[in-house]
Order: sequence, then C-alpha cells, then structure tokens
Amino acid sequence: MPTIQAYAAQDATAPLGPFTIERREPGPEDVQIRILWCGVCHSDLHTARNEWKNTLYPSVPGHEIVGRVTAVGSAVTKFKVGDLAGVGCMVDSCGHCPSCAEGEEQYCDNGFTGTYNGPVFGGENTFGGYSQSIVVRQSFVLRISHPESQLAGVAPLLCAGITTWSPLRQWEAGPGKKVGIVGLGGLGHMGVKLAHALGAHVVLFTTSPDKIEDGKRLGADEVVVSKDPAQMARQADRLDFILNTVAAPHDLDAFLALLKRDGTMTLVGAPAERHPSPDVFALIFKRRRLGGSLIGGIRETQQMLDFCAQHGIVSDTETIRMDEINTAYERMLRSDVRYRFVVDMATLG
Ligand code: NAP
Ligand code: ZN
Repeated sequence: MPTIQAYAAQDATAPLGPFTIERREPGPEDVQIRILWCGVCHSDLHTARNEWKNTLYPSVPGHEIVGRVTAVGSAVTKFKVGDLAGVGCMVDSCGHCPSCAEGEEQYCDNGFTGTYNGPVFGGENTFGGYSQSIVVRQSFVLRISHPESQLAGVAPLLCAGITTWSPLRQWEAGPGKKVGIVGLGGLGHMGVKLAHALGAHVVLFTTSPDKIEDGKRLGADEVVVSKDPAQMARQADRLDFILNTVAAPHDLDAFLALLKRDGTMTLVGAPAERHPSPDVFALIFKRRRLGGSLIGGIRETQQMLDFCAQHGIVSDTETIRMDEINTAYERMLRSDVRYRFVVDMATLG
C-alpha cells in the first residue's frame, strides 16, 4: 500500500505533528483524491483531544476535504481523473438499513464509517483529511461545481455547510419564518448564510459583541448579544426555529423561551460536557420541541453543494499551513477565527 504524509495526534495532550500513513490502492468502486484543502472543524479538536472519550490513536482529523481525482477504479462512473471532488464526514455505511435506504446514511443502523476515527460503533481506525490523499467509495464522494478560485471556501461546506443545511431544510427555514442561529463560528456563519439564502428572517445570537457587524454582513437581519438579558427579552416567543451551534455547555432555557408556540430548537453543537437540563415548563406550556441533528446524508450534501454553487455561497476562511494547526486549535477555542480555518494541503510534505 502506498504511504503518504499526514498530521496526527498521538494522544490527548500531545500537539499534532507529522505522521506517515498508508492508503489502500483504489478498488473497482474507489476514487483516489489528492487533497488540496481541508477545513478545520471543532469536531477535529474534540477528537484529537479525546474530549468525547472515543478517540482511536493515532488520530488524523479532517472531514472537510476538497481535492482533485488522481485515479478511479474500473467501475467508477461518477468521476474521472482530473475532476474536482469533495469528501465530508462519512466514507461508508451499511447501505441496506432503513436509514441508508432513505439516503440518511449518517443515521445508519449499523454505524456509518467516519472519515476519521473509524466506524462509529467500533472497529478499525480511519484517517482523515489532514493528509496528502484519500481513497473513498464513489458513492461517498461529492461533485464540486464551484469555480476553482473558490475551492478553499468550499471545503467547510462538507461539514459546516451540510450540518446547518440539513436541519434548516428539515424545519423548513424560508420566507415567512423567523430563524435563530446561536453561535457565530464555523457552523454558525454557514447557518446564517444558508438561512438568509433560503429566504428566512435571520436572528443571530452571539456572545461576542465584536461580531455584530460581521453577522449583518453575512446575512443576519438582527443580531442579539446573548449575554445581554434585555436584548434576549425582546426576542421572547418570536422564533419559529433555532439552530444552536455552540460548542460549550450553556443555559438552553434562555433560548427555548424565544420560541413561538410549536417552535423547535435543534442542537448541532456537541460539547464534551452536558448542558444543564432544560426546564420542562419552557417546553410544555408552548408545545416547544428540543431536538438534535447529525451532519446530513450524501444526497442532501450534494443538493447543498449545488445550491451553494448556484448562489455563490462559500465559507469565510482564513487559510493556514499544516504546521499552524495547533495554534489554530487554540484560536478556535477563543472564538478567534473569521470563520473557518482551512489548511492549504500543499504545505504538508
Ligand atoms: P466553532 O467554530 O468553535 O464555533 C462555536 C461558536 O460557539 C463560537 O464561535 C462561539 O460563537 C460560540 N461559543 C463558544 N463557546 C461558547 C460559550 N461558552 N458560550 C456560548 N457560546 C460559545 O465550532 P464549530 O466548528 O462551528 O462547531 C460547533 C460545534 O458543533 C462543535 O461542538 C462541533 O463538534 C459540533 N459539530 C456537530 C456536528 C453535527 O453533526 N451535529 C457537525 C459538526 C460539528 P460566538 O462568539 O458567536 O458566541
Ligand atoms: Zn465537522
């Protein structure tokens, strides 16, 4: 098997550093991709540091991958050498359970295979996009139709984009709907852009007053500093849907109170520690719902990419070298990124 350069965490406390991995030769259904850009998701940090207590080491994170096809197997029809291609958070699933049959591979009853950190229900480790190349079954590879000049900004769509798109579509964000987005980070800024492009009235909730102008530029109709009780009180009972992207435990009741009767708040943020329990009365008196959502299926990811290409939507990025990843993690923890780090993979090896 060919060996390639990658960047890995060897344990929960060590900084990431150079590491050599093997990739399989492409089989009949496989697409081999030279990685050009890889976004830096907060899930990479949770995983590298074993914050979810399930990390397999060595850990090569990265699941916002854009690259160019360098080889295809004999049965591959979707791609040819030279095409642009994307890979998100999954590289395989069972293919026959009810969720897979409905194109919701992320909810595969037998556990999808994560792009990194192996199958979700245990098994061999997988290595993600902080690497020179990847080999993936064609059915888990996405087509990219954005202009080549926008590729760095396309990479974050493969996780931050689909993770916000899927619940926004599920809860029918669009004209006539008031949609709250909580947290202006990698996911949150895509949530604002997508909800705005879908035609919703967008209210951004941020803990960072210095992001107010950015929030408006990105498409928010209103920006609320969530630490200010008076600003929060003015939003009470107003929102049809709230998408909560925050990566740390916080008081959910403060946001549940902003939902109209029958409104829903969906959590996509996945903090290592639990949120304080929500107040049941905040839910029952207005028949409000609290739910969750995991990335999105492959078909839906393609729809999101095509929508973004048609509407000229990409992520706002700061590009970094691979050897800047440890500093980038520290800055991400301080919410000091506008709004997604993307690694220029030409800087590896
Ligand atoms: P990120 O770029 O770090 O953004 C998180 C944002 O949350 C920050 O920018 C900040 O926004 C806000 N925040 C951070 N700490 C906070 C605190 N203590 N109180 C209130 N707000 C706080 O992270 P990301 O990449 O968007 O990921 C967000 C979360 O989603 C992570 O937990 C990640 O693992 C998870 N995730 C889930 C899925 C899924 O399928 N469900 C997929 C991908 C990622 P402000 O400065 O605006 O307040
Ligand atoms: Zn992610």
